[in-house]
Amino acid sequence: MGFFDRFFPKSCSTVLHISTKSGFHLRPAAAFVSEAKQFSSSITAENRGKSVDAKVLSALLSLNLEEGDHFELHCKGTDAQEAMDHLVAFFDRLMQKEQEKHPGQCNTPHATHRYQNPGIPVTPIAYGIAIAPLCRLEISYTTNGKKRERTLVEAIKEAKAALLKQHREASGNDDADIFLAQHALLETLEERAKQEKIETLEAFATLLHEEAAALEGGILASKKSDYLDLLAHIKEAMGETRSLHLPEVPFILLADDLLPSDIEKLSQSACQGVLLHDTSTTSHTAILLRNSAIPSAIISKTEIAAEGVTFGEESILDTTVDQFIPSPSAEDIALAKKTEDSVRRSEADAAKRRFEPALTKSGKQIKILANVSSLEDAHAAKEAGAEGIGLLRTEFLFTQQKPSLELQERRYAEIFSLFEDITVRTLDVGGDKALPYLDLPHESNPFLGIRGVRLFKSHPALMEEQLLALFRAAEQKPLKIMFPMVSSVAEFVDAKAFAQDVAARHGLSIAHHRFGIMIEVPSILFLIDAFDKVVDFYSIGTNDLAQYLYAIERTHPTLSVPAEDPLLLKIITDLVKDAKHPVSLCGELASETKVLPELIETGIETLSLSAAHIPTIKERIRHV
Ligand code: PEP
Ligand code: MG
Repeated sequence: MGFFDRFFPKSCSTVLHISTKSGFHLRPAAAFVSEAKQFSSSITAENRGKSVDAKVLSALLSLNLEEGDHFELHCKGTDAQEAMDHLVAFFDRLMQKEQEKHPGQCNTPHATHRYQNPGIPVTPIAYGIAIAPLCRLEISYTTNGKKRERTLVEAIKEAKAALLKQHREASGNDDADIFLAQHALLETLEERAKQEKIETLEAFATLLHEEAAALEGGILASKKSDYLDLLAHIKEAMGETRSLHLPEVPFILLADDLLPSDIEKLSQSACQGVLLHDTSTTSHTAILLRNSAIPSAIISKTEIAAEGVTFGEESILDTTVDQFIPSPSAEDIALAKKTEDSVRRSEADAAKRRFEPALTKSGKQIKILANVSSLEDAHAAKEAGAEGIGLLRTEFLFTQQKPSLELQERRYAEIFSLFEDITVRTLDVGGDKALPYLDLPHESNPFLGIRGVRLFKSHPALMEEQLLALFRAAEQKPLKIMFPMVSSVAEFVDAKAFAQDVAARHGLSIAHHRFGIMIEVPSILFLIDAFDKVVDFYSIGTNDLAQYLYAIERTHPTLSVPAEDPLLLKIITDLVKDAKHPVSLCGELASETKVLPELIETGIETLSLSAAHIPTIKERIRHV
């Protein structure tokens, strides 16, 4: 550390946007805190006038950051800049990872069957069908006198060790993060207990209830079950064991809520399905239910009461049609069994047939490509049965610092070696995608500013380096090079001329590459005749196209464009019909099972989607 660094610590700030449906919840926040702790600088997060220590999990959670919110991140100290660069890039990756996981969604195939008996509508948590008697959750507590003599400090230590053990045992699957996040939360609560000289179980329980109550009303309210779960762990360590009384024969469980730690017990029982009143699709309980593949849903207490359900009687939970049928007829049960059977078969077929082409019933092949943001994604896409890469989002390959030409070339070459059919998008930065090493100007509306293809004018050296790395990495392999956010023919023509000039100056031949555009800006829809004369292909980016078409920001917390929007489908139909070059689709719409038949009806023949959805979408196409 230099003299000046020691005596004149640096400070820097930036604004970070929450772009995931479930907000900045426990898991990502815990991961962020653990990164922040690696730096000696003081790191604070500020939102709505409240500033908190970003190295303290409960403090960060108290900001109640929801989708669409932003917070200011301030770093001050000798490693401030380093911390800032690292945290900004880490945060971007976190948001992206959370979005890909779609933690709030239960991607149920859209089914259309109807039961005879009236059902109660449910909000699905985990997809599937359960047929079994309904049973209400019963819990009892037993006390072990000897353990009661333990101190609070000893009990917290034991609870922390138990959570770490669960984390180790779950390593490699999504559950592992949850136990680690709970461990981090307990550490911060332990710290508060120390500061406030809390020594009894009763006082600690009050602290936990207060913390949980502070989350009430915000999007993080669903995390209160984590606080209650920690309390259950501490109580257990102090001799009070919580036991679930579960039938030994198959059952569907009805409860207000469950603790995350209950799910393991349920998955070892005869439980066929779960109905909860007071949880959300993003709670850790919900995530664990999904990971355990227990069909489950949220049901309203009043609806259950109004229906007067009888416990112990056969019932059906069917999240493929978002229904709970409390008193099914014999025909209803037969229908549920038949559907369950076909769902199982379809899932097994999807996995088994993922490397086969996706042919519709009439024999038309739909090409299925992958959206890829990293080398790991590319490997996952290969394993999921992708037939190529339809969208390589290059802006996510290097988020921490500007990569050298050699590093870019190496990484591109690794990805290119996996597939023959590859569409690479040049850097799409700006709007919701920031790069910490890029000096983009401050704009009051960045979604309408310097972004996408406009970088060719604002950052020519950066674009030259990227193109050169792409050309060198591809060698003789033909690439489809795609420009993002194009809004006029001139933008495309200039960007292509720029690429040709780069190649010529470096003595490279690029005649084997094709050049095309993303269709994301509505102006393109009126310019297809002119574009047909210059481009080689099109790819429809429905995420941004819907945003600009309806003036609804794609990360908006309350507004959204529905997948089944008829105008979007009409636009796709017209593009496929009118354009003289191949048209593919790489927005999220490509993985919406709900509108797949309508999408296929538009005439689109190439879809690009994330690896996780590929086997299912291929299998669904086979039934269209
Ligand atoms: C789109 O806009 O639909 C798209 C695929 O691009 P991105 O989501 O990367 O902006
Ligand atoms: Mg886009």
